[in-house]
Amino acid sequence: MFRNFIPYFIPLSEKKFLTFPLSFDIIISYLGERETLRQIVPPTNCPACNSVLEFVNDQLFCLNDSCSAKSAKRIEHFAKTLKIKGLGPATIARLDLFDLHDIYSLSQEEISLCLDSEKLGTKLHNEIQKSKSVDLITLLPAFSIPLIGSSATNKLAQHISSLYEITPEICIEAGLGPKAASNLYDWLVGTFIDHGYNELPFSFTCKTQAKVSLDDTKGTVCISGKLKSYPTKAAATQVLEKYGFIVKSSLTKDVTILLNESGIESAKTKKAEQLGIKIFNNLKQIIEE
Ligand SMILES: [Zn+2]
Repeated sequence: MFRNFIPYFIPLSEKKFLTFPLSFDIIISYLGERETLRQIVPPTNCPACNSVLEFVNDQLFCLNDSCSAKSAKRIEHFAKTLKIKGLGPATIARLDLFDLHDIYSLSQEEISLCLDSEKLGTKLHNEIQKSKSVDLITLLPAFSIPLIGSSATNKLAQHISSLYEITPEICIEAGLGPKAASNLYDWLVGTFIDHGYNELPFSFTCKTQAKVSLDDTKGTVCISGKLKSYPTKAAATQVLEKYGFIVKSSLTKDVTILLNESGIESAKTKKAEQLGIKIFNNLKQIIEE
């Protein structure tokens, strides 16, 4: 979504200039000499596609689904979530990517040509190929579905092994809120098919994560900082749970193992040391123990 909050009035000190999102034409006019209150007129049209903008909860939105600014943001989020290195905003613009399909349709030669570098082209093409192997747990949050991030996806993954198993009932059973559930289901029966996302080169599957009960768990793991072994905490969580561990996002009192692969001595690490919690710097060691 193309978000930019434009307040109607902003009080300013006399000499200060207002720096504002440059993407919008902002018309500023004085409302008197001494009182330095300036009126800011919100833009009426999207600077990228010229569609009429609409206010939703005091925020301006471009509701045009084929807006280039929105599609660039969508691709940016997708590439970031899938950890496709080298596919940032500048490259997205250079490659003229408009749709998620565009990412996977480009040949190595085409990328090299657009980037004017054989080396960069090969590198990015490899990154893109590599991203095809992600499972649903990493993939689903990449589609920018409101309220469907890695936490909701992880909940779902305890009930499904494929995207095609998602039903409104499963969403509720998995503990998704009604809004998140309806967003996901609407996307699934609408956007997913309409945009041909089902033809993207993914398996759309994940291993069903068996819920581990507190009685037969091997331990409760808290992950601190960035991981080296897996691209995301969600992916690491999936592996740990598969091996019978419970994963907590904060250092609650039932945590028995702290995983710190970054080596940075975080607040969590210090607290774990004080509490005598076992600290590991590699996920593999936890599994092998
Ligand atoms: Zn637009």
